[in-house]
Amino acid sequence: MTDVFDELVGQEHVAALLRDAAADAAAVRQGAVPRGAMTHAWLLTGPPGSGRSVAALALAAALVCPYGGCGVCEDCVAVRHSAHVDVEHVVPEGVEYTVAEARDLVARSALAPARAQWHVFVVEDADRQGDASANTLLKSIEEPPERTVWVLCAPSTEDVLPTIRSRCRHVLLTTPSSGQVARALHERFGVDEQTAQFAARAAQGHIGRARALATDEQARARRADVLALPVQLDALGDCLAHAASLVATVEADTAAVCDPRDASEREALLRAYGKGGEGKGIGTAERRARGAVKDLEDRQKKRRRRVALDQLDRAITDLTAFYRDVLVLQLGADVELVNGELRPALERLAALSTPERTLRRVDALDRTRGLLESNVPPLLAFESLMVALMDPALAPRS
Ligand SMILES: [Zn+2]
Repeated sequence: MTDVFDELVGQEHVAALLRDAAADAAAVRQGAVPRGAMTHAWLLTGPPGSGRSVAALALAAALVCPYGGCGVCEDCVAVRHSAHVDVEHVVPEGVEYTVAEARDLVARSALAPARAQWHVFVVEDADRQGDASANTLLKSIEEPPERTVWVLCAPSTEDVLPTIRSRCRHVLLTTPSSGQVARALHERFGVDEQTAQFAARAAQGHIGRARALATDEQARARRADVLALPVQLDALGDCLAHAASLVATVEADTAAVCDPRDASEREALLRAYGKGGEGKGIGTAERRARGAVKDLEDRQKKRRRRVALDQLDRAITDLTAFYRDVLVLQLGADVELVNGELRPALERLAALSTPERTLRRVDALDRTRGLLESNVPPLLAFESLMVALMDPALAPRS
């Protein structure tokens, strides 16, 4: 590795621009006249998986690393693990940032860096906030303290308030090609070439997802289960059963991620309130901590919902790619299939239905995403989705 920006895949222009910004920032701290390559507020946009947060963290590392982002020193490694004292890596606890979270950020942004030259705030999913919370942040983004840098990440500029957008320098990341993703998986993570190519294609330019598919057996198995659904949806009863089993799997996976984390956070909170201390009973600590425990439980509940929603969203993305492939076959388009390894199933569905019906199924997938975002219970949303995807022509003829 030559520097932290090498971690970006297929974003040479972004790497060059951010490298230049970090160099300018370092020169300014040495007393040079700013060249204008550095600014206090950045907005990094790009489709999910394009590497927004990788780019944001690389910029943060380059600003706090004494060598301009070497990628290997103590500072760079700490930033990569979201553990640097001067780099706050902020992710919304729930589906959206709350005003309280925004206020807390603004208060912390007033502090000078503890050991580095800059105090950097990497704000993931900056689009996930209401106007009130965005307006709270705006105050600090408009006039940040001298050594504070904001790096906001969002899917597109339209997703953030115009007032915020206009205060930030915009950097656009693009979806890397599956060839670029495959090469990165092979060269950086030692994934064999065939698996790398499969994972890159299946992940459709989403690097994190590609890496998970290449290295995590459970991720591959979950995806295979979802993509096995379309040919099994031939009757109402099956549709409801498959929806129930998919949602149950998501709930179990969510619990596996969230339960241990929730328990240790609760334990840490109670300890902070004196649980286990001299002469104080457990009951006393729990009584004192009641309000704080309630807040914690609210945050954990939101986080749990978000973890589950992310998995449901992934299932929708995989199914959408599947039906797009069906459409490609139906139209005889000369486009590479995302799910080439499932050609027999794709061909079967393509032969049984029409392009119009396939498009209706893609629409149903889109609608389901909307339903989930507007709080419709996942089971209900997926039952109606499975019914919309159902094709009675798949049933074996007796
Ligand atoms: Zn370094």
